[in-house]
Amino acid sequence: MKRLLGTGILLSVFSLVSFSQTEYDPSEAGISVVQLTDKLYKLQCISGTYTNTIASVGEDGILLVDTGYPQTSSPLSDALHKLGDGNIRMVINTHEHSDHIGANAVFAQEAIIVSHERVRQAYRGQYFALPGIDRPGAPQVVFKDSLSLYFNGEEIRLQHYPGGHTLGDIVVHFTDSKVVFVGDMVFAGCFPSADITRGGDLNRCLENTGQIIRDYPTDALFVNGHGPDYRAEQLKAYLDVGTTTSRLIRNEIEKGQSMDDIIASDLLSSWKEWGEGVVSEREWVACVYRQHLKETHQQATSICQPLTEAIVTAGIEDALELYANLKVHHPEKYSFAEDELNTLGYRLIDRGRIGDATEIFKLNVAAYPESGNVYDSLAEAYMIQGDNALAIEYYQKSLEKDPSNSNAEAMLSKLGHKKN
Ligand SMILES: [Zn+2]
Repeated sequence: MKRLLGTGILLSVFSLVSFSQTEYDPSEAGISVVQLTDKLYKLQCISGTYTNTIASVGEDGILLVDTGYPQTSSPLSDALHKLGDGNIRMVINTHEHSDHIGANAVFAQEAIIVSHERVRQAYRGQYFALPGIDRPGAPQVVFKDSLSLYFNGEEIRLQHYPGGHTLGDIVVHFTDSKVVFVGDMVFAGCFPSADITRGGDLNRCLENTGQIIRDYPTDALFVNGHGPDYRAEQLKAYLDVGTTTSRLIRNEIEKGQSMDDIIASDLLSSWKEWGEGVVSEREWVACVYRQHLKETHQQATSICQPLTEAIVTAGIEDALELYANLKVHHPEKYSFAEDELNTLGYRLIDRGRIGDATEIFKLNVAAYPESGNVYDSLAEAYMIQGDNALAIEYYQKSLEKDPSNSNAEAMLSKLGHKKN
């Protein structure tokens, strides 16, 4: 199984919503607890890097903002239950990235989950025109603009800031405590980051940071997804670094410099330490680059957008015809990259549409006959259908094209065949 995940540039910061692809070692997971006020705690979910969560603990029980990684769910739950006697009654998600919603399914057993409506869509794996699917831990209460919760004696105000880091970013304001959780709209101590391929926008992200500085009390404590807490002055300095360095990078891109040219130059040498955290200098330059491509309309629409519409409304035969047609007549308008059809195939498998998935993987084999991965995916589809002979044939082809494909080797051995 190879579910390629885009270009991988931003995946170290926020992996895509996906629950079954990584096996975690729970022994690596840990929690660090910091008390912020008499009832608010910051719990850092540590697993290599760390993700901040906030808990309100008091007479109403426990409210948790963000659930961290799947592998830290058990120590996080233990730590929360040590802080107070009550149940975890509510969970709020700041946005859709899996390091913030990764343990939703665990906490959904005792809590109601609240988020922006986009987070529910993303959690349920809505993929262009393919509707979402039921998954434990999907938010049950959603909102568009703002929502107030009253818990442990204070108003907790949730405010949506559109389309910056992701499409469904919210700020969680503990009004009496003067604590403002900004999720990943701010990467304190690092360069900013926007998930542009999934609807984020870098300019918006920086504008939202400016708006946050104006919207909340000057003496508030700003807690963010992965870095140290900030006061308003530090947030202003962070915004200044983001704005200044993105302009510098942008100027170089407009002069025709490549991403590698910019990284090899000493353009960002004055901000070296800013690239040493979860958003590296390379990731920051890539983010500005993607924003530039988006604004200059050089980022083509995924072919999966029209294909999923055709599959849903007319069926796979029409979709295959449409693909051939668009590839001949509109090659510039759509992205026909290998990963597009590969991802679509797996999204169809997730929905039990194995026949449709097989046709899509076959299309990818025809389009990328030299790639080992396309044969591997097709072999997997045959294996799911119980057609072991074809599964073996395509795993062998995959190995021919890519002898380093250890997955194909493992699958062949599972199917009772060894590499020739
Ligand atoms: Zn994020």
